[in-house]
Amino acid sequence: MYPKDQITYWYQGQGLWNNTSEKDWNSWTWQLKNRITTVEQLENHLTLTPEEKMGCYFANKKLALAITPYFFNLIDRNNPNCPIRRQVIPRGEEMNVSPEELVDPVGEEQNMPVKGLVHRYPDRVLFLVTDRCASYCRYCTRSRLVSNAQDYNFHPEFEEGLQYIREHKEIRDVLLSGGDPLLLSDNKLDYLLKQLREIPHVEFIRIGSRIPVFLPQRITENLCNIFKKHGPIWMSIHTNHPKECTIALKDACDKLSYAGVPLGNQSVLLNGVNDNIEIYKSLVHRLLLMRVRPYYLYQCDLITGSAHLRTDIKKGIEIIQGLRGHTSGYAVPQFVIDAPGGGGKIPINPEYVQKITVSEIILKNYQGKIYRYPIGTNTIANEQNLNEFVEEILI
Ligand SMILES: *Cc1c(COP(=O)(O)O)cnc(C)c1O
Repeated sequence: MYPKDQITYWYQGQGLWNNTSEKDWNSWTWQLKNRITTVEQLENHLTLTPEEKMGCYFANKKLALAITPYFFNLIDRNNPNCPIRRQVIPRGEEMNVSPEELVDPVGEEQNMPVKGLVHRYPDRVLFLVTDRCASYCRYCTRSRLVSNAQDYNFHPEFEEGLQYIREHKEIRDVLLSGGDPLLLSDNKLDYLLKQLREIPHVEFIRIGSRIPVFLPQRITENLCNIFKKHGPIWMSIHTNHPKECTIALKDACDKLSYAGVPLGNQSVLLNGVNDNIEIYKSLVHRLLLMRVRPYYLYQCDLITGSAHLRTDIKKGIEIIQGLRGHTSGYAVPQFVIDAPGGGGKIPINPEYVQKITVSEIILKNYQGKIYRYPIGTNTIANEQNLNEFVEEILI
């Protein structure tokens, strides 16, 4: 159904909000103020299934309910299995907690030298700058703190975080996340980026945000100018399904690209949303058309109450296998598991290497054909020369 129409973007205009003025509709603050946050508001627009009704009843204890009007319009209201609906409308199943599930599924709390700053890898940090998002994904990996439904009481410590980064010269890469950093005001973002840019050892600054997908109206000229001023700022957006690739998202991505922001995409593999090769292929092709490079495909973390959204690892491997070699290499993300307990992201790949012997490596290509590549014994002719050369470039 999706692969045939790769260049047409799915778009429904203002949909249910047709009576709203264009000015309001295009205002990101209007979109935020008019979010759907209660079961009554939801029921004004669609018929909830009993499963969903129960989910809404519990949502305030787990992860708040919020959906921007823009994103709500993408839901097929006649289809309880709509892939957009599954991402943002709570379900009673969220209250089923299985023994392997964790409140802190990727072990962030143990690597937080400062509240909100995760320093797990040697040269980079994850800086959580807010606990708010424009809409809430039901599979949120940080549902323990995001939306503050679980009394975590998160308060971002900007100054402490910045001070830690200043004092740790090994940090060359800062990833702003949350919550969604693009919910901060322009002034606050400008300030944060300026402070980070002034730290000589910070080379690489990036933002993880689902705002372009939930609230494309936020990508204003002023915001783009801030990115231009402090650039290069890299950004990872988060799309899961081709239906999210609307004209409005494309416009937002264009603006970011023209402001010099290189774009990547992170998806989560979700049961009944994108665990299908044709749907996923259609998504990555649309991303390339928007100048977005697929970066990671995540196995869904072991978040409490996420069993109904998780899939078999084999499905992810199958999707990668279905892409690699069959379509542009640029369209193929890295499939990863963010290891429970704080091990970080670990790549999961189809088995292309069949065997390595002393004399050869035996490989399988994308069509399943076997190829051999001989392994030489003296590939490094003069190790000392090479080391001198390495020293030269490092100076
Ligand atoms: C994902 C993540 C990063 C960034 O990882 P990359 O593989 O460099 O994109 C950094 N720190 C933490 C804690 C992370 O979870």
